[in-house]
Amino acid sequence: NDPKEESVLSLMKDVCKLMETQAHLHNVNLIIKQEEPIRVYCDRSQIKQVFINIIKNAIEVMSESGGTVTINVYKRNDTACTDIIDEGPGIPVHLIDKIKEPFFTTKKNGTGLGLMITNQILEKHKGSLNILDNEPRGSIFRISLPLQ
Ligand code: ADP
Ligand code: MG
Repeated sequence: NDPKEESVLSLMKDVCKLMETQAHLHNVNLIIKQEEPIRVYCDRSQIKQVFINIIKNAIEVMSESGGTVTINVYKRNDTACTDIIDEGPGIPVHLIDKIKEPFFTTKKNGTGLGLMITNQILEKHKGSLNILDNEPRGSIFRISLPLQ
C-alpha cells in the first residue's frame, strides 16, 4: 500500500468499530479523546494494525473486571502521539524490556508477536512505541509518529 496523509482520528475510529464487539463482550469501553485534528503520512492498514494490536492487549488484560480503555490523540512538538491507556494490572518492571521480544507471551494462547510487529511497523514509519506506567493502575502504550 502507498503511504498517504491520513487522519489519526479516522484511523482510530475504524479500529474502534472493529474492536467494539470484543470490547463489549468483556465489559470494556473504548473512549477516544482528541485535542485537535492530526494527520500523519502512513500506510493506513499498517497503522490500523498497530492500533488493533495494542487495543486488543488492553481489552485482554481487563477481561476479568472490565473497565475503560482511554485513547488520547495529541501533538507534542513535531510528533503525533496516541496514548492507549488501560486499567489492567500493569507490567512488572522486570518484564518491560521483554514484552516487545518475539514469542514472549504470558497468555495461554498468546503468540507473543503483536508487540514485535507493532514495533517493526512503527520503525518503518520513523515512529516509536513507549510503554509507561499508569497511576494508580494499568499501562500507557504511547505511539509516536512524525507529523507531516
Ligand atoms: P500476546 O498478546 O500474544 O501475548 P503481544 O506481543 O501482544 O503478544 O504481548 C506480549 C506480552 O506483553 C503479553 O503476553 C503481556 O504479558 C504483555 N502485555 C501486552 N500488553 C499489555 C498490557 N496492556 N498490560 C499488561 N501486559 C501487557
Ligand atoms: Mg497481543
